[in-house]
Amino acid sequence: MKRLAVLGHPVGHSRSPAMQNAALAELGLSGEWSYEAIDVAPDEFERRVRAMPGEGFAGANVTVPHKGAALALADTLSETAREIGAANTLSFEDGEVRADNTDARGLLDALPGSPGGKRALVLGAGGAARAAVWALAREGAGVEVWNRTPLRAEHLCAELGGAPVATPDLGSYELVVNSTAAGLHGENPFAELPFEPAHLEERHTVVDLVYGPEESQLLSAAHAVGAATVDGLEILVRQGALSLEIWTGVAAPLEIMRNAAHR
Ligand code: NAP
Repeated sequence: MKRLAVLGHPVGHSRSPAMQNAALAELGLSGEWSYEAIDVAPDEFERRVRAMPGEGFAGANVTVPHKGAALALADTLSETAREIGAANTLSFEDGEVRADNTDARGLLDALPGSPGGKRALVLGAGGAARAAVWALAREGAGVEVWNRTPLRAEHLCAELGGAPVATPDLGSYELVVNSTAAGLHGENPFAELPFEPAHLEERHTVVDLVYGPEESQLLSAAHAVGAATVDGLEILVRQGALSLEIWTGVAAPLEIMRNAAHR
């Protein structure tokens, strides 16, 4: 049996085990592969990862707060993980730990079209924003970054590209990506974000990485004006599909994963 897991702290809320086990069953691989959630405290992370190959693990997803630590302990890094400075996918092979980042490609795969040549506003300057800025800039979007703590946006742009913006004018963007935690606990995100629902327009594509049982207030406001929307679960599905393909070498069944993630 080849074991897989998502490592986080906390991790009990994660939709990844349901999504990945549904995919493995659909592919006829559930007799050979299994996927579980493991809660690991930060000071235990490296020891836990080092023990995993000996316990039959072939790989792991890594979520908050371990994405930087995952990168730091890896023996080999994909170019994407190295440039973003965070890893969400580990593979254990031949005694080595390889780190990848599928968050960036997952975001691009979830968009309705290429962001190349579009103007994009990324909200946030944490790990999720880093992947978003890297992905969008690399695809040729003109990226601006707003963050509650402006200095972090300045540092992010200096490293990864894009330009920091203090008071974004929503009228100048086609794509808006919320990669802050605003609205994560059902609170009104507009109390924290630098624009009002009235600034959203039909021509916008609005992405909210935050996901929960209900549609986020940001995406509800975007829907209300007829804007295209991408929710955080779709991004979770896309990054998970890419991770599964890295581990198994098999194309992931997206619709099965989507259904399992939404259940
Ligand atoms: P992180 O590294 O901790 O960064 C958090 C970011 O959110 C920072 O920019 C922080 O701003 C900002 N922030 C936190 N609370 C805020 C508030 N109340 N108002 C405005 N800004 C706030 O976290 P992360 O890993 O980037 O994750 C960010 C969000 O994306 C989380 O909600 C996470 O669940 C979600 N996410 C989703 C996926 C997915 O697959 N759908 C993947 C990754 C992350 P400061 O710098 O000012 O503190």
